[in-house]
Amino acid sequence: MAVVAADGVEPVDVLVVGAGVAGLACARDLAEAGIGVRVLEGSDGVGGRMRTDVRDGFRLDRGFQVFNTSYPQVKRRLELRALRLRPFTPGMLVHTPEGRVRFADPSRGPDRLGGLAGLVPGRLGSARDLAALGVLSGRDMFAPARVLKRGADRTTRTALADAGLSEEFADRVLRPFLSGVFLEDDLETSSRFFHLVWRSMLRGTLCLPADGIGAVPALLADGLPPGTVRLESAVEALTGDGVLLAGGGELRAAAVVVATGPGAAGRLLPELPAVPTRAVTTYYHSAPASPLAEPVLLTDSARRVLNTVVLSEVGPTYAPPGRALVSTSVLGAADTPTEAEVRRVLAELYDTVTRDWEPVGEYRVAEALPAMAPPWPLTRTTRMEGGAGARRYVCGDHRATGSVQGALASGARAAREVLADLEV
Ligand SMILES: Cc1cc2nc3c(=O)[nH]c(=O)nc-3n(C[C@H](O)[C@H](O)[C@H](O)COP(=O)(O)OP(=O)(O)OC[C@H]3O[C@@H](n4cnc5c(N)ncnc54)[C@H](O)[C@@H]3O)c2cc1C
Repeated sequence: MAVVAADGVEPVDVLVVGAGVAGLACARDLAEAGIGVRVLEGSDGVGGRMRTDVRDGFRLDRGFQVFNTSYPQVKRRLELRALRLRPFTPGMLVHTPEGRVRFADPSRGPDRLGGLAGLVPGRLGSARDLAALGVLSGRDMFAPARVLKRGADRTTRTALADAGLSEEFADRVLRPFLSGVFLEDDLETSSRFFHLVWRSMLRGTLCLPADGIGAVPALLADGLPPGTVRLESAVEALTGDGVLLAGGGELRAAAVVVATGPGAAGRLLPELPAVPTRAVTTYYHSAPASPLAEPVLLTDSARRVLNTVVLSEVGPTYAPPGRALVSTSVLGAADTPTEAEVRRVLAELYDTVTRDWEPVGEYRVAEALPAMAPPWPLTRTTRMEGGAGARRYVCGDHRATGSVQGALASGARAAREVLADLEV
């Protein structure tokens, strides 16, 4: 295999563009196979969409997200104990005009009776709806993953209707929750993706690292040989032999893996088909006391917000002593409600006075997830057609599924394909 000088420091075989979890996973698999690899990251830190800012003692994830311990890639490559994970209460609370109702798998959770209470027919759904959901959940939980992956792909709305769930139940209970997962409000996302996510939720635990979601990519980066990641090294363009850096200078390698988000990937590889994306905005508020003494996701049946949670209940490290941190997300990154409007809705959802809550951060993520309209392939080759010179690859969640699992799996696939092509 050809080894060519990269940046005058030491030769590398492969350049990976982007230090999100896909690029980090790819680099790690290549390094473990003995390949010289360098990761070029445009920003000042690793993690991409999974970063955490620390501001005035608050940990602010750059857009609220949850970490699922049952994703196969997560189980395979992350030492979970090192993340000091803090669990959410299984299930969720739904704010309805009649008050808050708990929606949970009754076999789990700290309060089994609480879970059951929420599932009493009539409170959130009819006996028929709950039975249909039970059958769907049993299949998603226990069927082999390959069965779910090979199932017909249609919209999640159609799949729920075909499973016997009434439109009212889907709209009132599942839609508020799933819109926070898909970042769209019409349940038009691929049903295959839905079944896999539902399975992972039933099998795993939703949690967050004590140090914030950014601890996940930080742990991946820690596993790389020292000096592998070069920060503030944005790639301007791909060249025949490697890449051109935005700051000047050309680096050469036998292979280049573009592991950016879909927008940047399209700019670097114009032949790549465009991928529409979903946007989200997360508002963070500091409150003098916790408005809900439980680490539980609260959704809104009126769908004014996607979800809200008292993050300092999930992990006390999320807020300085004496303060509570509340995260609230809404769909979209433009024309979103003002912070004051969000606070007014929160007063109703938490049934408390929010006048003295202080805004501590607002994150607008325009390219949060790929829009996974059916039929959505769960995995795609990372190989790009090319002529002579450096081989080109593309990976990231937009090449698999919009999730940590999808991004890691796509990075792993890129590494496998690079290794096969370079005949290592
Ligand atoms: C608000 C939000 C909530 C989410 N919630 C969940 C959730 O609950 N569960 C879940 O599983 N997933 C969730 N996700 C999705 C998950 O975070 C992503 O799928 C995953 O992080 C994508 O990783 P990636 O490596 O593919 O891309 P990215 O994280 O986008 O990484 C790309 C990297 O490339 C860098 N880059 C871009 N252009 C260049 C360039 N020209 N040169 C060099 N570097 C460049 C970027 O700076 C970035 O670091 C959420 C995402 C968001 C934003």
